[in-house]
Amino acid sequence: MNDTKIRNIPFSPPDITDAEIEEVIKALKSGWITTGPRTKEFEKRIAEYVGTNKAVCLNSATAAMELTLRILGIGPGDEVITSAYTYTASASIIEHVGAKIVLVDTAPNSFEMDYTKLADAITEKTKAIIPVDIAGKMCDYDAIFKIVESKKELFKANNDLQKLFNRVIVMTDAAHAFGAERKGMKCGQVADFTCFSFHAVKNLTTAEGGAVVWNNTEGLDEEWLYKQYMLYSLHGQSKDALAKTQIGAWEYDIIYPAYKCNMTDIMASIGLIQIDRYEGLLERRREIIEMYDRELITLGFHSLQHYGSDFSSSGHLYLVRIPEISEEKRNEIIIKMAEAGVACNVHYKPLPMFTAYKNLGFDIKDYPNAYKQYANEVTLPLHTLLSDEEVQYIMDCLKTVISQKE
Ligand SMILES: *Cc1c(COP(=O)(O)O)cnc(C)c1O
Repeated sequence: MNDTKIRNIPFSPPDITDAEIEEVIKALKSGWITTGPRTKEFEKRIAEYVGTNKAVCLNSATAAMELTLRILGIGPGDEVITSAYTYTASASIIEHVGAKIVLVDTAPNSFEMDYTKLADAITEKTKAIIPVDIAGKMCDYDAIFKIVESKKELFKANNDLQKLFNRVIVMTDAAHAFGAERKGMKCGQVADFTCFSFHAVKNLTTAEGGAVVWNNTEGLDEEWLYKQYMLYSLHGQSKDALAKTQIGAWEYDIIYPAYKCNMTDIMASIGLIQIDRYEGLLERRREIIEMYDRELITLGFHSLQHYGSDFSSSGHLYLVRIPEISEEKRNEIIIKMAEAGVACNVHYKPLPMFTAYKNLGFDIKDYPNAYKQYANEVTLPLHTLLSDEEVQYIMDCLKTVISQKE
């Protein structure tokens, strides 16, 4: 490629404007920098956006998922199912609470779990399923809920909260999927619990951060549930720092030795501006995806379909699979793209290929479909700082690199 034209296109830089910067300054000058009014306001805005009664902000999606399992009383002796094709956080939290990780292979030519295998994986020990809304596209929740209903007689509730569900609980890893929709429902309105990430590379960022929302299951005391997240995320302390600033209110109790993963008002101040801008950010993601699709699908590449008649994703990742290439060839392509100034990635190396999961007894041979999805996959840059011309440059580079003979 012509040297003068070489760019530097990062994979997923944060889209931060002066408005976010000014809001952070306001938070810093306000005298309140940890969990306080801005975090509460951000929770309200998230719940409004998603269409749930409440939202809880925490310091990551990982914390949101782990606390949800803990609050549900899931632990040793239980099994929790997730996809082999995901980021480690979807599975590591199962290990953290002491339950057994059960990984399900993807369906052939799909980034989603194989729903037949999912049904077969449910035992009388299964307490929860963690579907992954990969790239921001919601899974087939009709299929998932049909499965958990059909396996209802196997479910053994260990506590009152589990009894309310009386079937395997569905907790989505929606780290990618804030703003996604399916069949007229927003991501967050469908699963029993939905956990979002606001990590720096995600669509909407607070640098680090996450949130959990839940469905209004009959009999669920939402105030009580909200309070559980507050306790679990702040040492099990009966009053947070803001409540303690009331006159004479210094005294508190520690209900149990809990965790520390609250969101700060500095993080929330970034999120408050990002959520104001979010519809525009989603729109721009859609334009870029449509540019990629128009050219790459015509050329015979397989890419994850983000938009359809009854769904639209949050457009988080552009996953493209290059037909007929090996894992080695794919790795070479990524190196050559990097040499042309385009940072690409792979989403995901299946969990059974990592040391930690091998040590837990997983073997990639048992996940042949996940391996096939991974081996020829390249994730192209997709973010709201890309110009149309840069998108064209990325596609031109990809075409050039692929047509090169070794
Ligand atoms: C980013 C990510 C997470 C973790 O989110 P954090 O907010 O960093 O904890 C979990 N699952 C998936 C699929 C992710 O991409």
